[in-house]
Amino acid sequence: MSESTARDAICRLGASIFSRGLTFGSSGNISQRLDDGGWLMTPTNASLGGLDPATLSRLDAEGRLLSGDAPTKESFLHRVMYEGRPDAGAVVHLHATHSVAVSCLADVDPADVLPPITAYYVMRIGRLPLVPYFPPGDTRLAEAVRPLVGKHHAVLLANHGPVVAGTSLSAAAGAIEELEETARLFLMLQGHRVRFLTPEQVEELRAKFG
Ligand SMILES: [Zn+2]
Repeated sequence: MSESTARDAICRLGASIFSRGLTFGSSGNISQRLDDGGWLMTPTNASLGGLDPATLSRLDAEGRLLSGDAPTKESFLHRVMYEGRPDAGAVVHLHATHSVAVSCLADVDPADVLPPITAYYVMRIGRLPLVPYFPPGDTRLAEAVRPLVGKHHAVLLANHGPVVAGTSLSAAAGAIEELEETARLFLMLQGHRVRFLTPEQVEELRAKFG
């Protein structure tokens, strides 16, 4: 994918995410790895609803800004995902309402926050660990995420939101949208008797789809 195609794809995705209310204000950020090992990243204080392909942050392989506006203050979250996942081509982080709501619940399993509600959740997210809370911009957050990244392409930051890596921009977007929809379903099902997928059904999906 050429750099200009990647710039357009990030802006299109940002507009799509914003218009559907999956993030708001200037929250949420998107990055994509480029062929030279550098990245495109959404700028600090930029609304995903109004991204300009020409002002996206262009970083080199060491994370230095080559052109465009300064990158999101949460760029360290993206870097730690790429460092732990050599196959990651893109990372999306959102403050999506239902995922944030689930990240605030007291009695979830921090090793795997959401139950296997649907096959697509199991296939696109799998196990979702909860990362302890740290204030915005605190780099201890990266250190808390780092040990999880080898085993997980998706993590949920407590009282904050999800960070999801994918082999491509569309894979990362599809997975984080599946996570948000599953969080919404999980909240809708509170107080109901629910039949989740059984461990055997989950195992079958993992064996078949990885
Ligand atoms: Zn955030």
